[in-house]
Amino acid sequence: MNPYWSETVRKLTPYVPGEQPKLANLVKLNTNENPYGPSPRVAQAMAAEMGDRLRLYPDPDSSALKQAIARHHGVGVDQVFVGNGSDEVLAHVFLGLLKHGRPVLFPDITYSFYPVYCGLYDIDYAAIPLTPDFTIRTDDYLDYGSNGGIIFPNPNAPTGRLLPLGEVERLATGNPGSLVVIDEAYVDFGGTPIPTAIPLIERHANLLVVQTLSKSRSLAGLRVGFAIGQKGLIEGLDRVKNSFNSYPLDRLACVGAVAAMEDDEHFEHTRQAVISSREILARNLVELGFEVLPSAANFLFARHPQRDAAQLAQALRAQSIIVRHFRQPRIDQHLRITIGTDAQCVALTTALRDILASSG
Ligand code: PMP
Repeated sequence: MNPYWSETVRKLTPYVPGEQPKLANLVKLNTNENPYGPSPRVAQAMAAEMGDRLRLYPDPDSSALKQAIARHHGVGVDQVFVGNGSDEVLAHVFLGLLKHGRPVLFPDITYSFYPVYCGLYDIDYAAIPLTPDFTIRTDDYLDYGSNGGIIFPNPNAPTGRLLPLGEVERLATGNPGSLVVIDEAYVDFGGTPIPTAIPLIERHANLLVVQTLSKSRSLAGLRVGFAIGQKGLIEGLDRVKNSFNSYPLDRLACVGAVAAMEDDEHFEHTRQAVISSREILARNLVELGFEVLPSAANFLFARHPQRDAAQLAQALRAQSIIVRHFRQPRIDQHLRITIGTDAQCVALTTALRDILASSG
């Protein structure tokens, strides 16, 4: 430990990127990437931006992208904030909107970066237990009392369970003293109509929705995320961004993201493909004896009542198939499996069938 490190840095546990192994020919079902490529229009738009235009700095306001997002979601441009991936957006949300000297509330089983941001920014938090069937019980949050804000992914990660929009609205109404942040990284896989809370924004000044282009738009490599809320909230986020002088999105990310937001056909086609593969994979896993939670995301959360999850993950890894296993109490017997192409899903079920037969 370096003696010059600050107290905050001493307490941090750095993220070890073990989930991005650099091996060829993997069936990579561990980090919820989209198995299909982005819209072909993304590469065309980026190619057109290459060359002389890269000489120029990007638009600090990412106006063209904000306009494309605003158009797609039927909101005003001043209701949109963009960042380098929703992780950066969330970092600004924690610092700019959730730090009030009162604990921020989120589920005990949820996106692992929330406690990390709290550690980084010295924000107190309380982890609210999910119910035994891994759902969020709205009343637990409403009954908690004074808080610095509420945040959770909807659908939740890594469970995939969706909280109905009526409950989201009940939270926003019942918690007027602080912000309710809905992290909708996976919401586009939640069916039709897409169960996004964006239409509720108009009625609730304390509601902020965060989304990403990493999942349903298949652009994890480009790093683009956004938040939508009433104008005052967006102004708060802009203040954080502009005080940091944090980087605006680069020119290639902006034009690529605009092209992705405008290709509704590709978006619909690929999200429906993921949803139908998920339903098939869920049935196949049940046939193999797994208990599978209902999922509204591009992954399944499943456990085998007679098999150790860590050993299953290890046995799959030996066959170059990577799924996610968490060494966390209560979920250490589960696997989180990203929905791949149909061929990848078949490779997974075939491997699991063999593993279960040989160790049974
Ligand atoms: N929120 C949740 C719930 C996630 O699972 C992820 C990515 N794994 C993110 C946000 C961040 O996504 P990105 O930074 O790629 O937009």
